[in-house]
Amino acid sequence: MKTIIGLEIHAQLLTETKAFCACKIDVNAKPNTNICPVCTGQPGALPVLNEKVVEFAIMAGLAVNCEIHETSSFDRKNYFYPDLPKGYQITQYFHPIATNGYLNLESGKRVRIRRIHIEEDAGKMIHSSENITESKTSLIDFNRCGVPLIEIVTEPDMNKSEEAKEFMEKLRDILRTLDVCSGNMEEGALRCDANVSVIDDDGRSSSRVEVKNINSFRYVQYAIDYEIERISKVLRDGKDVKHETRGWDFVTRTTVSLRSKEEENDYRYFPEPDLPILKVSKSQIENIKLNLPELPDQKAERYMKAYNLAKDNANIISKDKIISSYFEKLVSLKIDPKDSSNWIVNDLIALFNADSIDFNADKVPIESLKTLIEYTNSGKISRLSAKEVLGEIYKSGRNPEDIIKERNLIQVSDKNSLVPAIKKVIENNQSVVEQYKKGKTSVVGFLVGNVMKETKGKADPKVVGELVKKILDGEIV
Ligand code: ZN
Ligand code: MN
Repeated sequence: MKTIIGLEIHAQLLTETKAFCACKIDVNAKPNTNICPVCTGQPGALPVLNEKVVEFAIMAGLAVNCEIHETSSFDRKNYFYPDLPKGYQITQYFHPIATNGYLNLESGKRVRIRRIHIEEDAGKMIHSSENITESKTSLIDFNRCGVPLIEIVTEPDMNKSEEAKEFMEKLRDILRTLDVCSGNMEEGALRCDANVSVIDDDGRSSSRVEVKNINSFRYVQYAIDYEIERISKVLRDGKDVKHETRGWDFVTRTTVSLRSKEEENDYRYFPEPDLPILKVSKSQIENIKLNLPELPDQKAERYMKAYNLAKDNANIISKDKIISSYFEKLVSLKIDPKDSSNWIVNDLIALFNADSIDFNADKVPIESLKTLIEYTNSGKISRLSAKEVLGEIYKSGRNPEDIIKERNLIQVSDKNSLVPAIKKVIENNQSVVEQYKKGKTSVVGFLVGNVMKETKGKADPKVVGELVKKILDGEIV
């Protein structure tokens, strides 16, 4: 059995104004306040293309290795739905701005990108479940009408749901690094439709099923897995798989049939007569290319080469530009890069993940982490205490020195104050000392443990270990 998966991804662009009018884009605005004759489709209103939209689309295209076309054009995709006041969506059907790109997955597998085109979003409907009146009604908010989107269409190159999820995450990281899309799936700023078909062991291929409304990275994987299961069963039962559009229901974690799939010609595409051909010059494209920021993969590569970071750490740090700039600042403050990466990946990010919030440099100031790492590396506090202090900084934002002082966490590494405690432990454990003298050196660990207890965990275990040996060997009397 083989599964074939292709994705169609819509990404909302972070422009200040809409694609074809001067209306502001503001998700927090009251319904139907950011609208005008153009985006609500009033007769005679004419669209004017937002230059920023073109720039963002080109940036995205270049970042996923597409060919950018100097000439592209807009078309009308006609359909009737209440959230579409014009009765058509302006899109690029016949001549998209970018084609022929790809992204490589971690496994080295290449997922080709067929095309990227510019289009506009539709309005938003609010149905009776969230109703404010007694009768069943649907409300409509046109603020989202005309918000610019890019649609990214892959070739059907993925064979596992994990690959689709990885592709989505990778794309999100790139779009965020470019600052062209917030990448937030939960808010609908990044939306994924998955096309799934299954070929069974006898070579019979199912029809292609499209799953829509997938609103999280986890659900990309769940929805596709559910569909693979469902289609395989229909094939096993010897029935026909319907060519249809299904929706992901995150409550029941199933897909449900929405409609039989419309054919392309149902949309009666034709060139948009109100917009001229879109031309961008070679030099404009070249200029955008020169100004692209360093992308996550390039950054990870650099971290591995320049700082000798482990691949996993390099990947985790480089995919989020807030994390990577935090890391680079820490390194610029003369903290060892490997140390920096370990603290960020193993300790710091874990705190944010536990609260399911995005990494935010304000919660643990770089100077605080620097101090903490220095205290730990010099043996002033134990690694365990450092973890405790980090948790407290994260919670309260307090200064690490104050927390260390208040909790009395400084390790005792001063010989003069440790020797008496060690001698006491040795005296109380004469049988263990006998074993040591017979050559069983591993008992040192046991004695160190007891000294740690004796000093209430405040001794530096490394120093204690050295001292215990010296005392047992008679080097210190
Ligand atoms: Zn408008
Ligand atoms: Mn579309």
